[in-house]
Amino acid sequence: MKTTNDQKELLDRLLRGDLPDKEGRFGPFGGRYVPETLMPAINKLTDGVLRLLPSENFKKRLNYELKSWVGRPTAMTNAKALSELWGSEVWLKREDLAHTGAHKINNAIGQAILAQELGATRIVAETGAGQHGVASAAACARLGLPCTVYMGQIDIERQAPNVERMYRLGAKVVPVTSGDSTLRAAIDEAMRDWVSDPVNTHYIIGSAVGAHPYPYLVRELQSIIGKEAKSQLEEIAGLPDAIFACVGGGSNAIGLFHPFLGDKNIKLIGIEAGGKGKKLGDNAATLSSGNKTGVLHGAQSILLYDENGQIQETHSVSAGLDYPGVGPEHSFLKYVGRVEYKNATDSEALDALKECCSLEGILPALETAHALAGAKKWSSQNKGSRILIGMSGRGDKDMPILRKYIGIDKDDKPNATV
Ligand SMILES: *Cc1c(COP(=O)(O)O)cnc(C)c1O
Repeated sequence: MKTTNDQKELLDRLLRGDLPDKEGRFGPFGGRYVPETLMPAINKLTDGVLRLLPSENFKKRLNYELKSWVGRPTAMTNAKALSELWGSEVWLKREDLAHTGAHKINNAIGQAILAQELGATRIVAETGAGQHGVASAAACARLGLPCTVYMGQIDIERQAPNVERMYRLGAKVVPVTSGDSTLRAAIDEAMRDWVSDPVNTHYIIGSAVGAHPYPYLVRELQSIIGKEAKSQLEEIAGLPDAIFACVGGGSNAIGLFHPFLGDKNIKLIGIEAGGKGKKLGDNAATLSSGNKTGVLHGAQSILLYDENGQIQETHSVSAGLDYPGVGPEHSFLKYVGRVEYKNATDSEALDALKECCSLEGILPALETAHALAGAKKWSSQNKGSRILIGMSGRGDKDMPILRKYIGIDKDDKPNATV
């Protein structure tokens, strides 16, 4: 894409730390599209975030939990067999090794500490596949905060093991039967709960989406991924030529990419869910298939919607990528031409998952498998490159889906091709 001076200037402002601006805008994206009744809570949270995040006390508490409870820094793995097969030097940043099995915990524990410092006595969260619900439940248990998780009725049925994990960790799970009965409706309900008691309640949102200050807050908390990756690679191998991460709402990707945005010779590539194919409704390829802007969950961003402006139901084999929008900073990074967005289909992701299991001894999450598939495709045209892939989570949670898609043999043993 050709970038104009205007777009270059916008990227420079982001790199200088001038974006998001006071209204939470990243150029044409972001902002705060919330009911008037929520503005005092949003303003209070924004003040708290700007004051606490840089404070020594907050940083000390957060770092202590990240190191002793989450298990940071997470490993940087040289994927020797994938390197040989793909013809490039492949490195994996292992968020799958973080406590509760994905990057989500970086955000959940950070926001839970923030909420406690700001005087909140109760946490609400939403969850789709259940990973953010589990991370929030764990963080709240750790800090002694009661936690309520809103979850669509359809998701409760298809993600039963994670619902049980949340119960074990002491959270209350509230089924949502309004709207689409999945993630989108769960976010609406969690916000409604927050509006009803914004003084005592904090809402831990699960991705780099929502009204300002959330996209900024989540990016700051997830940037630990990219900061660690950069210093690890500088020490053991050197900086990469290209970096890949899967994009649902975009939190693991923004966390990995952000510390590298100023290194303009490093290619940054986000991989969305290509689902069953290109038809609207068959995928969740928001940025890689379209450019239509709109407002969802409090922010202006690029979205998937039909000719009547109705938000589109999406499809992906991975529940964590099954979302019709994307965080506003990603729309911005596409707009200014700094990050490229592509997608991988369900079957490409499943193939990449099998390859990673059998060659590296790592079972990645289905979401993560999209990043692997995208990196493999890019490698085939850029042999000899050094590439870094964000391993956003582990695949233990995906067993029922893998069983359905890849199958088992007649003796009820996993299919030999897995
Ligand atoms: C939730 C999830 C994602 C997608 O969320 P982002 O906010 O886009 O990072 C990706 N991978 C895993 C393992 C997840 O649990």
